[in-house]
Amino acid sequence: MKCRKCPGKAVLSIPRHNTALCSPCLTEYAHAQVERAIGREKMCTKEDKILVAVSGGKDSLALWDMLRKLGYQADGLYVDLGIGQYSIRSREKAEAFAESRNATLFTQDATPDESIGIRELADLVRRPTCATCGCIKRYQFNRTAVDQDYDVLATGHNLDDEAARLMGNVLHWQQEFLEKQSPVLPASMEGFAKKIKPLYRLTEREIAAYCVVNSIDYIVQDCPMATGSRLLVYKEALNVIEQASPGSKQSFYWGFLDQQRKKAKSDQPSISDQDRATLHPCEECGQPTSATICSYCKLMAKAKIHQKVS
Ligand code: SF4
Ligand code: ZN
Repeated sequence: MKCRKCPGKAVLSIPRHNTALCSPCLTEYAHAQVERAIGREKMCTKEDKILVAVSGGKDSLALWDMLRKLGYQADGLYVDLGIGQYSIRSREKAEAFAESRNATLFTQDATPDESIGIRELADLVRRPTCATCGCIKRYQFNRTAVDQDYDVLATGHNLDDEAARLMGNVLHWQQEFLEKQSPVLPASMEGFAKKIKPLYRLTEREIAAYCVVNSIDYIVQDCPMATGSRLLVYKEALNVIEQASPGSKQSFYWGFLDQQRKKAKSDQPSISDQDRATLHPCEECGQPTSATICSYCKLMAKAKIHQKVS
């Protein structure tokens, strides 16, 4: 198979764009897609300080690599979930990446007590592991971005992630979540970092290929807690559709974004605008919340009570 852009040998076919690319052209394509995402959605500029949420997986490491190569000032934050070998190996990958590129990586533990991981903490507060994890990671990433004066927090969500999430929200008609699904969430108030998803134009397959051709060593294993997640089912369903009809995944998600943009031009305040209007600082930690105490502080208070009892 030949590259469609140069005389080189193609390493990846991309049916949704009816093309096939060699290693250098694939890298160029991936960089162009990220630049396009950043420019189109006004995500950030080269003067901004960016904090990348790093998991040690392909998406976050590829994102960090691309931002740095494109001339953005990007540092990383790894949150250690304390999930046995998975966390040990993913942390190693994140640290090795940072060291080899002389990049700044912050590391934090997800739980206040290092003898327990996210699973044990979730059991303690009797909440599902992923919900507990999501609450803690959102808090720690936002807190670090704000405390360390970063302008933007970047996550490695890709086209597959966003299309699967959209499918879940549509299947269950979760209007509130639909309104909040955007590749950019502005810094709505003091204490809230602007959040961006510069990989929303690239698929998992393209990002994995980018990692291979750019020698990015990432943890291939998914988080063990993801097994059986509904998001994986939606991803599989979308892959079946994509195979039969290339381009469906992007037209599903990008079409949705076009609709959102049209809506944003109308005067109607969105649910997320209304939500932001109700935010104020948490009485415990000062982070933005719509309640008196934020969900992270409630979770930590619950964990302390249960630890004292047990
Ligand atoms: Fe956290 Fe793993 Fe669940 Fe993802 S799958 S939310 S990383 S526990
Ligand atoms: Zn709080």
